[in-house]
Amino acid sequence: MGIHQARKRFGQNFLVDLSVIDQIVRVIDPNALDRVLEIGPGQAALTAPLLARLNHLTVIEIDRDLAQRLRNRFPDTQLTVLEADVLNVDFSPLGSSLRVVGNLPYNISSPLLFKLIDYADQIKDQHFMLQKEVVDRMVAVPGDPHYSRLSVMLQARYAMTRLFDVPPTAFEPPPKVVSAIVRMVPLPHDRLRPQDEGMFSALVARAFGQRRKMLRRSLGDWAPLVDWGFVGIAETARPEALSVAQFIALADYLLPQVK
Ligand code: SAM
Repeated sequence: MGIHQARKRFGQNFLVDLSVIDQIVRVIDPNALDRVLEIGPGQAALTAPLLARLNHLTVIEIDRDLAQRLRNRFPDTQLTVLEADVLNVDFSPLGSSLRVVGNLPYNISSPLLFKLIDYADQIKDQHFMLQKEVVDRMVAVPGDPHYSRLSVMLQARYAMTRLFDVPPTAFEPPPKVVSAIVRMVPLPHDRLRPQDEGMFSALVARAFGQRRKMLRRSLGDWAPLVDWGFVGIAETARPEALSVAQFIALADYLLPQVK
């Protein structure tokens, strides 16, 4: 089998640093019977050491050549290769208590993170390598310059921990940016949730769509519907000042009036 030429359009930066690979597998800490789904296995930098500890692994790979190499290299009793764009995959048939892992292609990380929110009930945990700057946004708190729509939407659904940074030299070819490993665990069901995910998501998108503006402006025709004193938020506040709980309260307040 020849050498695989990294394809830029698929965000291919392959992990080559064995100590980093070992560190990632250690924080995932797979058990033989875990139901693990790997996104973007590439040349099996993580796939092979994961398989050494698992009875079975399912992977989703968009690159036809890489998918074929994986099928040739591992028996299909151990490795199930889904050749697909992960953004088009329906996760519902993949089972529950899923452990999702991946050194993600950075060009699809935000849409993928948003997509996975819809499947959070099926997921036990997620461990991802992402651009460090994306992880900064995921874990940012109100007042932090990185606090954004991504922070609010993910923190409403997951407990997240930044685990460690990974330098460009750990990859081939090296990416232009520093990466970081993040752990995401869906919050338990008794945690405060918006009554309607659609309303919550629409509100957060509107508020951060114009993040420099006060809420009374950015919320447009919803602003006059809000009794600001009642919800305990200043109408002059900007979205970066609101906690996740305040966004949930505002969405629940607006729901019966907007629907
Ligand atoms: N896991 C390998 C490693 O650590 O060396 C490869 C990581 S590389 C950053 C990203 C991988 O995701 C590549 O194998 C790429 O072909 C694959 N990929 C890119 N876009 C994808 C998509 N939309 N759906 C599924 N896989 C994708």
